[in-house]
Amino acid sequence: MKKKVRIQSGQPTGRLTCPACGNDYDFLEVAENVIVTARYLQNDDGSFTPQESETEILGEIKLFCAACDQDLSEYHSYFQEMIF
Ligand SMILES: [Zn+2]
Repeated sequence: MKKKVRIQSGQPTGRLTCPACGNDYDFLEVAENVIVTARYLQNDDGSFTPQESETEILGEIKLFCAACDQDLSEYHSYFQEMIF
């Protein structure tokens, strides 16, 4: 994944807080148009063993407040840089 150093306009001061309800704890990230490709190998007994899987996101990634569903996507780039 590309690592962007520059933080875009939607940077909160301090912790990210929902401007609508004040929630600063519970957030949802929603990716649109996701293709998940998983590889499986079939064993001798007919069972399958999962190998690697790959997720490709074609659409937008949005960020929502999990408490009131406020769209916080303007903070998404900041949010991503704060995931450790
Ligand atoms: Zn909220």
